[in-house]
Amino acid sequence: STGLGQTDPELAAAIRDEIHRQQDQIELIASENIVSRAVLEAQGSPLTNKYAEGYPGKRYYGGCEHVDRAETLAIDRAKALFGAEYANVQPSSGSQANQGVFLALLQPGDAILGLSLDAGGHLTHGARPNLSGKWFDAHHYGVRETDAQIDMDALRAQAMELKPKLIIAGGSAYPRVIDFAAFREIADACGARLMVDMAHFAGLVAGGAYPNPVPHADVVTTTTHKTLRGPRGGMILSRDAELGKKFNSAIFPGLQGGPLMHVIAGKAAAFGEALRPDFKDYAKAVIANCKAMAGALEDAGYALVSGGTDSHLALVDLRPKKLTGDIAEKALERAGMTCNKNGVPNDPEKPTVTSGLRIGSPAGTTRGFGTAEFAQIGRWMAEVLDALAANPAGDAEVERRVGDEVKALTVRFPIYPELR
Ligand code: PLP
Repeated sequence: STGLGQTDPELAAAIRDEIHRQQDQIELIASENIVSRAVLEAQGSPLTNKYAEGYPGKRYYGGCEHVDRAETLAIDRAKALFGAEYANVQPSSGSQANQGVFLALLQPGDAILGLSLDAGGHLTHGARPNLSGKWFDAHHYGVRETDAQIDMDALRAQAMELKPKLIIAGGSAYPRVIDFAAFREIADACGARLMVDMAHFAGLVAGGAYPNPVPHADVVTTTTHKTLRGPRGGMILSRDAELGKKFNSAIFPGLQGGPLMHVIAGKAAAFGEALRPDFKDYAKAVIANCKAMAGALEDAGYALVSGGTDSHLALVDLRPKKLTGDIAEKALERAGMTCNKNGVPNDPEKPTVTSGLRIGSPAGTTRGFGTAEFAQIGRWMAEVLDALAANPAGDAEVERRVGDEVKALTVRFPIYPELR
């Protein structure tokens, strides 16, 4: 073969080891998933060779007739999936989708209002080190002290005072359902546009297990690689095709050059899968599984931010156990469970330490785990963390025993067996 293993063994080894890592551990990072072979095949295709600046039927290069078909499939499927009048499938990432919206709707210095980072918002929603925080007058709303949920009354008062150009709903670590109709009402009252960034829960929306923001928002952005289970990338949707023309110009030529046609083909493949009836079962299972895992942790005495979850993710507040996110993440990884440290609302610790853990069920659900497996995972996590609370260096014996059980579970639910 003239495959990578022959031509570049060093790189081939890194890829092989990463495949084995994915196969042999339990992936609990809430923003990750496991794509189908169809998505891998589209993404690994020679469509990567093609320059196609512009949009289907209006390109700046010749030879685009076939990639036009692939992009049109992605657009039509995205519109059908989310009930949108407009879709742009070209943003290379979720961040670029958001930047495209800002370029289309805002001027430098305009006021924007998004969920704060420590309450579960995203960097691109006006965080200080991000372009959105440097170029705009970025303000943030938080969550209520009592239940860690968005306080719509406080948000309304803040929005009426600030009169932002754009209100942003959505985030990366908010476990609850967001009331999009209430956001719409506040945006109308203060004269703002409403953008919903559904990156995290897009797959739940596609599967009918979480409210659809498209009827309420002026524009909806998303990544395609989280719960939606497609290739790494972004997308912009709207119920307003006229507004869509502005987003198209913002993405190209405003922000990007040649779109990643192989990734767009991967998006078409993933959207095709999400349109199938079994994706509804998947979305429902993701939420049931997350509740099972979070419930097991709660039964073991762990506190959940907001007291639970309605989605694919839960946030564990480690403060009552006198643990921090950084050492908890590392101990769980030693036991074969991968998740990430995460700030909790009003976190006293630095972002590199944190007081929380974010856990999610999208990837495990894809590999076939049900509520029994996820409840077991919750119990394993509690065992490892209890041992860590008793000994800050971690209990090697407990981590090894749990790690062996984790490994046995992954063997029962294999992924990419042909890539072993
Ligand atoms: N928006 C939200 C809510 C996210 O959680 C993320 C990813 O973490 C992004 C945007 C950015 O996506 P990307 O990493 O593709 O730039």
